Amino acid sequence: MLSDVAELSAAFLAQEIDIYGREVILELREKNTAKDERPLAVGANDVQDAAVPEAGNLSEFNEKIKTCVKCALGHTRKNFVFGSGNPNATLMFIGEAPGQEEDEQGLPFVGAAGQLLTKIIGVAGFTREEVYIANILKCRPPGNRVPLPEEVETCLPYLSRQIELINPRYIFCLGRIAAQNLLGLSDSLGNLRKRTYQFQQKQVFVTYHPAALLRNPQWRWDCYDDLKKFRAVYDAEVGGKPPMQELESKKRA
Ligand code: URA
Repeated sequence: MLSDVAELSAAFLAQEIDIYGREVILELREKNTAKDERPLAVGANDVQDAAVPEAGNLSEFNEKIKTCVKCALGHTRKNFVFGSGNPNATLMFIGEAPGQEEDEQGLPFVGAAGQLLTKIIGVAGFTREEVYIANILKCRPPGNRVPLPEEVETCLPYLSRQIELINPRYIFCLGRIAAQNLLGLSDSLGNLRKRTYQFQQKQVFVTYHPAALLRNPQWRWDCYDDLKKFRAVYDAEVGGKPPMQELESKKRA
């Protein structure tokens, strides 16, 4: 009995460290209690690469870059996954990199994580069609491994130009890898979620990657808090959306 408790506690702590970083031990998990509410200006990874072709709109840009072989992933991909959604979206979601299903179809977030992302977008009061979805990388890393720094460095200027063309007012980074690479920061996801950022004049929010939520459904409450934080800003600045959907149970585990 006692060993069960010890095992459960150890597993819980390991999970907390995984998501909040080692600081969790010292911080006693200061959840979403950032004092400074102003977006933090970032731009280290706002790479304006002169080699990125000029384009007047998104589809022209896609046409110009979809045969890219600047990194090794260009030789192993089945399809280039440019992004999908509303080219004039107010809200953009950025994930890590295409997985197997996305590589097959040439579209972002179409697998199991993508289905959950569609639900998350719905809970926030939006439809998948009215937002834009893209990834840090446009080609699948073999075996879905984490993107290599040189792959990110090569591909990020494409995303940067894509953001410029879509000109969303708000961006949601999905997961640590997306947030760290877009924002040029190395904090844990738990710390990154504590505040918002300003990148290319867009306000950036950070939440969990849907694949992480599939593995850890209890984190959906924190994800819900992130969406609420976004909606408070959206309602004050833009407005006109119905209230956010409730989660299936109002009771937190
Ligand atoms: N995970 C991602 O980060 N992006 C996708 O497009 C699919 C799964």
